[in-house]
Amino acid sequence: MPDLPSQAGVVIVGGGIVGCSVAYHLARRGVSDVLLLERRQLTCGTTWHAAGLIGQLRATHNLTRLAQYTAALYEGLERETGQATGFRQVGSIAVAASAERLEELKRGVSMARCFGLEVQLLSPAEAKERWPLLSLEGVVGAVYLPKDGRCNPVDTTQALARGARMKGVRIVENVRVTGIETALGRVTGVATEAGAVRADVVVNCAGMWAREVGAWAGVSVPLHAAEHFYIVTEPIAGLPSDLPLLRDADAASYFKEDAGKLLVGWFEPVAKPWGERGIPESCAFEQLPPDLAHIEPLFAAAMRRVPVLESTGVQLFFNGPESFTPDNRYLLGEAPELRGFFVAAGFNSIGIQSAGGAGKVLADWIVDGHPPSDLWDVDIRRCAPFQRNHRYLRDRTVESPGLLYGMHWPFRQAESARGVRRSMVHERLAAAGACFGEVAGYERANWFANQGSTPRYEYSYGRQNWFAQSAAEHRAVREGVGLFDQSSFAKFLLKGPDAVQVLGRICANEVEVPVGRIVYTQWLNERGGIEADLTVTREAEDSYLIVSSCATQTRDFSWLCRSIPPAARAVAVDVSSAYAVLGLMGPGSRELLATLSDADLSGAAFPFGTSRMIDLGYARVRASRITYVGELGYELYIPAEFAPALFDALRAAGAPFGLRLAGYHAMNSLRMEKAYRHWGHDISDEDTPLEAGLGFAIAWDKPGGFRGREALLEQREAGLRRRLVALALECEEPLLYHNEPIWRNGRLVGRTTSGMFGHTLGLPLALGYLANAGDEVTPEWIAAGRYELEVAAERFPARVSLRPFYDPASERVKC
Ligand SMILES: Cc1cc2nc3c(=O)[nH]c(=O)nc-3n(C[C@H](O)[C@H](O)[C@H](O)COP(=O)(O)OP(=O)(O)OC[C@H]3O[C@@H](n4cnc5c(N)ncnc54)[C@H](O)[C@@H]3O)c2cc1C
Repeated sequence: MPDLPSQAGVVIVGGGIVGCSVAYHLARRGVSDVLLLERRQLTCGTTWHAAGLIGQLRATHNLTRLAQYTAALYEGLERETGQATGFRQVGSIAVAASAERLEELKRGVSMARCFGLEVQLLSPAEAKERWPLLSLEGVVGAVYLPKDGRCNPVDTTQALARGARMKGVRIVENVRVTGIETALGRVTGVATEAGAVRADVVVNCAGMWAREVGAWAGVSVPLHAAEHFYIVTEPIAGLPSDLPLLRDADAASYFKEDAGKLLVGWFEPVAKPWGERGIPESCAFEQLPPDLAHIEPLFAAAMRRVPVLESTGVQLFFNGPESFTPDNRYLLGEAPELRGFFVAAGFNSIGIQSAGGAGKVLADWIVDGHPPSDLWDVDIRRCAPFQRNHRYLRDRTVESPGLLYGMHWPFRQAESARGVRRSMVHERLAAAGACFGEVAGYERANWFANQGSTPRYEYSYGRQNWFAQSAAEHRAVREGVGLFDQSSFAKFLLKGPDAVQVLGRICANEVEVPVGRIVYTQWLNERGGIEADLTVTREAEDSYLIVSSCATQTRDFSWLCRSIPPAARAVAVDVSSAYAVLGLMGPGSRELLATLSDADLSGAAFPFGTSRMIDLGYARVRASRITYVGELGYELYIPAEFAPALFDALRAAGAPFGLRLAGYHAMNSLRMEKAYRHWGHDISDEDTPLEAGLGFAIAWDKPGGFRGREALLEQREAGLRRRLVALALECEEPLLYHNEPIWRNGRLVGRTTSGMFGHTLGLPLALGYLANAGDEVTPEWIAAGRYELEVAAERFPARVSLRPFYDPASERVKC
């Protein structure tokens, strides 16, 4: 066994491309006290057999920037380290074999434009010019990304490792980490076959093993391995060595020139989970048996697209394992369960192209104590604790690999491992025709099918089959009354004599308010960025109910717990599962509620922004006058076991009022008309409340201040360089989703952050940020522009406003 130091600043577990990239970037940030431990040899896990495609267009701006960074890094790594990487910028072509796929590609073109990525639309003939072996059968268009490329994954990993060593990192092979040491919620080191090593920071880059390594320390790392296939042909005469990569997502296939041969790989819709009883210890440079029956239909589809395959022999049938996550996005960041324990794993078959960027931002995160930009899409805090459940992961992994090349439909829902978390009224909603969507395993009614029709999505980029039903739900809320099941909300209690001071520091708004008041507030980081967007209800002198969204439950609770100073007399409890939440919303809601309650519900006795315990039916519930839909309404917090009976009572009492069950799609349409922000889309940890137009929720001068105040003061002084606005197309089509470029007087000035059709306004709506090339964005500058939104490479005139289009003075909410 090699001699290990007894102490290191950072220990990295795993010497695949990701671990080596983290080590390299830590060293570049000046952290040389880094020890990387690899149980066998560098690259022996998944890295050694990767195909080496380096694509750059990802689903978000920041992830695209990371992929762009990766390509630039690999391009220069040989010069820096003397170790070749095989990197070549050959470009890539994606072909579309259906109108829907072409729309997807064209929307991707627009997205790439606002991410600053070079991209060209190609006709089928132009695609063939660049890729002569292509069969154009069924091809209706294509897209060319000239900056995409390829590399040799083993050489690239070795180059990163060499770069890290050159800056003082110690890399030790053939030593297995066997345990994670912790004390008082912090990591303190690792146990290894060669003895213990104390460390301030441990980074879990253990690839397929990362779930098990995390579990040693009670950390959830939800990933599961699946078999992943490609073939390499015999040499093909005349194959150009600079052939672009080719993707035919409709055939689930990709093609890469590989030393005069073709490498053809697949992302099949129904995949094969692997390692169900754990990843074998013996697994190193593992090659799984080729499953010819499994790949035969895939191969047939690939041959139709590239007919030369029919007459070319296959030199290698390759099958290797790779890890996949439940939502097909990797897992990055400090684990919410354990301070100092970082994770970079679950790369869903894009680990080579992601490693450069992921390694860089993780190193920044470790050194600076926070992520350098909004990384929510891949942040490990998006995961619910249950998601490490083995059976759930295995069942979801049947679906995950196929998602990369599947249609990225708007509103697309997972099909596997469903029904995990259900609200207390789930069966009642289902009986009423609910079509459910899933967030972190929670089933939520998105829309309700009319009697006689099936609650199932029929996807498209245009109006989907639920459009009319959802419109009717929307109108019921605007004109009468609607009932939402919002039980998936995250709910926390903060209790104790110091609760008011503790929360006062975390919240930008004033929370030292009379008992019974609800405060809408943001939690900010030191840079003024929005970490959370939620409501806080003072339910007693020393107790607050904090309500946030299902998607951010883990993150927000972790932020809350970590913000309580050790000496403070305040304790936080997650009570999400204890309460159901029903949202009774619409101008008829007060009258309806009054039929079930003797409480004085008048506007004077029970105004907007207050919360009271009331008798309702046979139950006693907390009623809060708050809304996310822009109408008079009540959120009812109901002890879980009372919820079914109360739901029935509300529906029975609601019949004469025309009460309609409403789903999350209607809620989204309603909130967009009111320009209510959505954390994760419109606001994030890199947007400040001032930029987001939430300055009204800042209590600048409250005693004791709040975290982030100084940064906001500076920004207020300097003027805003970007601002969130509401946008509406001036025509009914096309529909907006997000990441559509915003043009002002013919210049690209921003992109949308969320989009939805607004049924009251009758127009596609969006929210988005505008920037003025580094200058201040003033209301005058905004008003003086002529705007267009780009959708699928075409521009459409749009209106822009700093205020909501619907009820800007919120008169309907406050009545
Ligand atoms: C067939 C195939 C084709 C692919 N093609 C591409 C592609 O074209 N482009 C792309 O971007 N990606 C591709 N990928 C995905 C890519 O290979 C992976 O995402 C990437 O290699 C993951 O790197 P990693 O460092 O996270 O994991 P790994 O390479 O598996 O590294 C993890 C390391 O941790 C070590 N380890 C585990 N437990 C311990 C322990 N207890 N102590 C010490 N060490 C430990 C392991 O031995 C291993 O070496 C492909 C994958 C497959 C299977």
